[in-house]
Amino acid sequence: MSKTLDNPKNQHSEICKPQDQSFRASATEYRGEVQPLEDGAIGQTLNHRWLETSVNNIIQEALELWPDLLITSGFNLNGVVLIDQAVKAGYRGKVVFVDTGYHFAETLALRDELQLIYSELDFVTLNANLPDNREYATNPDDCCFKRKIKPLKDYLAKQQPSALLSGRNRDGAETRHDLQPFEAGNPIKVNPLFNNSREELEAYAKKHGLKLNNLYERGYLSIGCAPCTRAVLPGEHVRAGRWPEREKTECGLWWGKLAL
Ligand code: SF4
Repeated sequence: MSKTLDNPKNQHSEICKPQDQSFRASATEYRGEVQPLEDGAIGQTLNHRWLETSVNNIIQEALELWPDLLITSGFNLNGVVLIDQAVKAGYRGKVVFVDTGYHFAETLALRDELQLIYSELDFVTLNANLPDNREYATNPDDCCFKRKIKPLKDYLAKQQPSALLSGRNRDGAETRHDLQPFEAGNPIKVNPLFNNSREELEAYAKKHGLKLNNLYERGYLSIGCAPCTRAVLPGEHVRAGRWPEREKTECGLWWGKLAL
């Protein structure tokens, strides 16, 4: 069952509210002892309790538990829906974007537009400021590390947020099929859209008139850097256009030994 995007007071919300002290204690413990709980019972319990809640409730409770959380975003469909939902849930913090130097002009324009639309948020752009050495053509893993992973990791090391709000969903990549609403780690990852399909996210964006990347309607369903992204063909997976000529499927922020 996918989760409700528009109805925070859905039928599941009451049973999933952290009403009792034991849940609150568990959540606090989950936050404080990250390493031993990678596959532990407390994380499992937290995820189980949240499995049927709405996106809005997950964000609201994450804000209560980890008020210093921040959003990282590449402003794809999921990211824009997440920002909109987060604002509706009361989020007023940072939206961190890593400018690799190779983004489409449309992506940078969207960032600027979102900055105006969601003026209550603090948009932060990180940039490693590296010269154009075209390393994406010879060593894309290294390119992603230097231009994307390292700048974000360095920033997070300074900011030390307890949690990150991420727009990932299970449909979004083969590596995300088991994605849970909460992932242990330092910082903890909160994935409110984990169980929403692309169709649901599109419907939400359309209903609320959200501003999406102009490339989206041209078949760019997952948009990364320009040299490493093409439009997808009918019937292809949403991420088929990312590093299309390579085995690589992830930049490494969320998957692999260098993941956040
Ligand atoms: S997506 Fe491509 S251009 Fe962007 S950082 Fe990774 S390898 Fe480099």
